[in-house]
Amino acid sequence: MKTKLTPIIHLFIVFALAVCLVCAIPFVTKSAGQAAAADPADAPAGTAAAEIYTVEDLLKIADNPSGNYVLKSDLDLAGVEWPAITFTGTFDGEGHILLNLTNPAVSAETRVTYDGNRKTYDTVFCGLFAILEHAEVKNVRLLGISSYTTIDKDCFCGGIAGFASESTIENCELSGMVRLSVSAKMFGVGGIIGYGNGVIRGCKADLTLINTDTDSAHRDEEFLGGVCAAGYPDIDGCTINLQGFLSDHGYVHSGGLVGMYIVYPKRFQRDGFIKNNVLDGFITFFEHNSDRRAYCAKQCGEIMDWMFTDSGNTYHFTRDERKDYSRELVPHGDCNESVYTETVIPPTCTEPGKTLHLCKTCGFSYFDNYTLPTHTLSEDYNVIIESTLTEQGTGEFTCTECGAAIRKALPTLTPTPTPTPTLTPTPVPAEPAVDSSDADNVTKSGNGSEDGGISRYLLPGAIVLLIVIAVLLAIRAYIHGKALRSRRNR
Ligand SMILES: [Zn+2]
Ligand SMILES: [Zn+2]
Repeated sequence: MKTKLTPIIHLFIVFALAVCLVCAIPFVTKSAGQAAAADPADAPAGTAAAEIYTVEDLLKIADNPSGNYVLKSDLDLAGVEWPAITFTGTFDGEGHILLNLTNPAVSAETRVTYDGNRKTYDTVFCGLFAILEHAEVKNVRLLGISSYTTIDKDCFCGGIAGFASESTIENCELSGMVRLSVSAKMFGVGGIIGYGNGVIRGCKADLTLINTDTDSAHRDEEFLGGVCAAGYPDIDGCTINLQGFLSDHGYVHSGGLVGMYIVYPKRFQRDGFIKNNVLDGFITFFEHNSDRRAYCAKQCGEIMDWMFTDSGNTYHFTRDERKDYSRELVPHGDCNESVYTETVIPPTCTEPGKTLHLCKTCGFSYFDNYTLPTHTLSEDYNVIIESTLTEQGTGEFTCTECGAAIRKALPTLTPTPTPTPTLTPTPVPAEPAVDSSDADNVTKSGNGSEDGGISRYLLPGAIVLLIVIAVLLAIRAYIHGKALRSRRNR
């Protein structure tokens, strides 16, 4: 009797295990899928770079400013309140565009800056990164900058960074305007960095820089440079197109590349370089000051410490000094009868769309209404993040014109009527009913809400399990009874 029953019990145990396993599959695969779509900013510093696909991803740099980042999409920052970030990590734009950076916040943190007498100032900063320290920024196209800061503190602003210390900025492209109006003592605008040092290599900029002293009662130290307002950056292979405007009731330090070249905190020996750069542009300025210096030159306005190799540079520069101190110098300030024509330039795969405004009277022109490059997307796409009923997913498309991989939001799922789980116990199926196609559907499309998914598998599983347990108990009782009877019979 015993030998006849044991295989049946084994069969039931195997069956019960199989049922449990089938019930568990969808949950295991689902959690694996969620792990794959992990938060990019979670990557710790020193490991593989976190990938940035959205403005939200980009803003998370502020939470981990020592991390390594790679930009994977062109992003439009119009309407984004851009924070002041002190960045110490690496940022690789991979040739992508950050468009319409608008009025980046001024840092709460200060760093010390030095004027030509090495007097110190606790200074605040703004830029794509307010402060860079031992950082690396490369291959980013920061286009359509619209940065206008009005402040009563000592302040420097730049396109990539307000302040840079021992940092490298390489192969970046910039366009737009950086403007600063200040009533304090020490301030400046630089095309790529405001104040500091490090290496700036292979960058390209087409910028309008405007720096205005709004306090005519006190003499101040005012700086402007196509690459850097003040400091000792090493500059190599940059192409700068500069339109500079500087209104100052104090001391002007302005240059096509650097406003004031100063090695700080003290003069120390170093082998710097300014080489192989091309500058095209002008600086229009006034220096309202009886004790005049009026530093304005094609390379460095004032050179405190000539500690750099100067070779292979090309300049087409106009020093345009004015003597009317009554009004702020701004672009198009001389035109008395501005009549604009507008031309909309549509975006391409690689270049933003924009509107050209051209003054028919004087030939002045500027751009605005920048829009991101557009691609012709393939119909097929890979699902990167599955849509749910409430959250948009992400799909990766291919551009049929340039072949670029483009990620786009996928629409949320429309609710499908989930079958109401029946509460009547179903009989134990003759064979374990493993509906593998159903399990696959859940992992591929993420269909239905999470609750629907759980009840769908949990209920039948539990019922089957209960029946199996009941049957096992019955068999056990039967064997037990049989054993007792045979013992009694003996
Ligand atoms: Zn005009
Ligand atoms: Zn394309």
